Amino acid sequence: MVTRPLRFAEIVAVGSELLTPFRSDTNSLYLTARLNELGLDVRGKSVVPDDRATVAAAVRAALARADVVVTTGGLGPTDDDVTREAVADVAGVAFEEAPALLAAIEARFARRGIRMPSINARQAQVPQGAVALDNPNGTAPGLWLRIGEQILIALPGPPRELKPMLEVSVLPRLRDLCAGAVLRRRTVKTTGRSESHVEEVAQPIYTTWLQSDPVISTTILAAPGQVELHLSAQGADAAGLDRALDAAVQKLEAALAPAVFSVDGRTLEEVVGTLLLERGFTLSAAESCTAGLFLGALTHVSGSSAWITGGVVAYANHVKVQALDVPAALIAAHGAVSEPVAQAMAAGVRRRLKTDLGVGITGIAGPTGGAEAKPVGTVVLAVSSPGDRNVVQTIRLAGDRATVRRMAVQAALDLIRRVLTDADYN
Ligand code: ATP
Ligand code: MG
Repeated sequence: MVTRPLRFAEIVAVGSELLTPFRSDTNSLYLTARLNELGLDVRGKSVVPDDRATVAAAVRAALARADVVVTTGGLGPTDDDVTREAVADVAGVAFEEAPALLAAIEARFARRGIRMPSINARQAQVPQGAVALDNPNGTAPGLWLRIGEQILIALPGPPRELKPMLEVSVLPRLRDLCAGAVLRRRTVKTTGRSESHVEEVAQPIYTTWLQSDPVISTTILAAPGQVELHLSAQGADAAGLDRALDAAVQKLEAALAPAVFSVDGRTLEEVVGTLLLERGFTLSAAESCTAGLFLGALTHVSGSSAWITGGVVAYANHVKVQALDVPAALIAAHGAVSEPVAQAMAAGVRRRLKTDLGVGITGIAGPTGGAEAKPVGTVVLAVSSPGDRNVVQTIRLAGDRATVRRMAVQAALDLIRRVLTDADYN
């Protein structure tokens, strides 16, 4: 009998192909999401080749740390499928025939009008003490094995076989053994500050939670133009965990505002979309260096047709002049990447497309085209709003061409967010 609730899990993905650049282990992402829902914290995962001793060693190492170990792959009938043998090695047990399993596999072939190849008989061999898990979408049965107080589960590699087996045969069994365990998470998303800047502010706050009850673990994740803090806490009292996490999120929000744009999982484009919808505003954009990426990002949001009107990709100067009424003299005097031109683009698109807000984006994405005064990564953003309230901002971004363009989009989204919430925008 398992006497304490299961808390920690590890995943071992078996398959030499997963160690090549051509296939990636997606099963473990799916598994992690489903195990987390049961309150199981996934503490480690490994990817190993189809080699019996290596698989056995990885499973042993995982069992030294976790209550539940799940393997995926290597349950097929061919010689290179060795997970079944490795599992028996780890448990220190022999194989036994499972006649019902053999009949089921034979019947599966018979239904398709073919004789079962003799190699498939291997799949009806079960390590002693293991429960064979039904595979409605393939021949390879899964395995459920109790080793002392721990659980070892072997699932097939193909996702269309793994998923139903997990849902139907594994999660219900695990749910009973995890009774009482809860894992709760929160995400605080920020933009406009570097990872080290966010860390500098947040670190003194979140380190205190490592001694608190419940313990709250925090990790920082950075993506172009965005830094996220992921908080998690595990315990038996769900309401208590929620209260502790909500208080923790509030502390971080207070310390990092106005850089925090979401604490409920929403993306920056979703946050901007909600703000536009709430205020009943429409928006158009004139994009030079991002050439449509900005409107592309915003139109990812379902329902965006309610607040996005359209835009102009104004790459060449004559398009800025002809389609947006930017005075040619302004471009001649200041250059296309300048605050007066970005403002004229924003005002022009707003007037031409008759929207409440107009956005102008111009910049040098690189790697060529930089100059001493305006190096690669210089981006100018402008927002033209009702009452001719105008905001313009010049930023310097670092990174390759794709990164600069992605970060310019993020910065433009954030500028609108700040305009709409009257937050500080410098
Ligand atoms: P089969 O009976 O199909 O041989 P198996 O359990 O032996 O099942 P593998 O041979 O290891 O599974 O993998 C079969 C296929 O499943 C792989 O080619 C791959 O497409 C997919 N697969 C295996 N492992 C993973 C994984 N971790 N993530 C995503 N896909 C995987
Ligand atoms: Mg296989």
